[in-house]
Order: sequence, then C-alpha cells, then structure tokens
Amino acid sequence: MQFHVQETMSKALKTSIDQQLDVSALFKGRADADCAGPLHVSLQVTGHEGFIAADGVLAIDLEQACSRCLEPVRSHIEIPFSEMFKPADTTFVSEQFTEDEISDFVEVESDKLDLEPYVNEAVELSIPYAPLCSEQCKGLCPSCGQNLNQQTCGCDTGKIDVRFAALKDLFKE
Ligand SMILES: [Zn+2]
Ligand SMILES: [Zn+2]
Repeated sequence: MQFHVQETMSKALKTSIDQQLDVSALFKGRADADCAGPLHVSLQVTGHEGFIAADGVLAIDLEQACSRCLEPVRSHIEIPFSEMFKPADTTFVSEQFTEDEISDFVEVESDKLDLEPYVNEAVELSIPYAPLCSEQCKGLCPSCGQNLNQQTCGCDTGKIDVRFAALKDLFKE
C-alpha cells in the first residue's frame, strides 16, 4: 500500500487495492477489543493534479466483551475510508476545493505515501465503545454479579421510585 506521490499524481495513476492485512499487532495490549480475523482493505487510489485520493471501505471482524454482561460479542464492522493526500512542500491550488476542504488534506512529507498508518488509525477510531450482545441485554446484577440474561437472582437492587427519592432529599435538610 505504498505509492510514489509525484508519479501517481503526474501520471494520474489509478490503483485498486484489494487485500487482507494482518492487524493483530494493532490489538496487542488492548483490553477492549481483539480482532477475529484479518482486515479487508478495499480501496481505490487515484492520482490527480496536486493530490492523491484514496476511497473505499475497510472491514474487520472484532471480538469484544458486552459492555453490560461481559459475554463475548463478535461483530463485523465496515469502515468507510476517504482521505486526500498532498505533498507537504507544495501550495495546492484548485478551484475544485474550498480552503476548508484543502485544510482537510493530509500532508505527505516525502515522495512515498504509505497508506497503512492511515488505515490502522481508521480502524482504531471505529472500534465500538460500548458493544452490546443484544439491545435487550439485561446486564449483571450490581450486587451479586449474576448474568441477568440467564436467570434472575432475587436481589433487592434498591430501585427507588423517583418521587420518593425527591422526598428523601427533602428530609435531609
Ligand atoms: Zn450482554
Ligand atoms: Zn443479584
């Protein structure tokens, strides 16, 4: 996934990337997620006058713990990827883009563009923050730890009616 910046731009090269990437190193030491397979990278890289566009989709299977009941959750995530790269040492002028859009361009310091770090970053930013085994997951009992999806435990978990909670505050004063 490496490109020569000047050549790609000047020859308006188009490259299709369709490959699997071992990203297990990315998940080493992460407590919140593990990959359950390689990352599928499917991108179209196109050289334009003054910039390079990379668009497509990344897909990966993840294994995480349900944020409520801690049971393993397998999920397939698809990550849209769209980045524009331009050489750092040129002032990019194009009527096609607004200044805001140009400031979104990623600046490439050398003539070599390696997409891998950007792909890795996109994956890391897309890891679900609070995965659920199901929307209806009842979670664990806060007092005995029983997985409430499997059975109820009979603990009194002290659900106070909000109206009474307000009264309780009143008596404190
Ligand atoms: Zn769950
Ligand atoms: Zn309980």
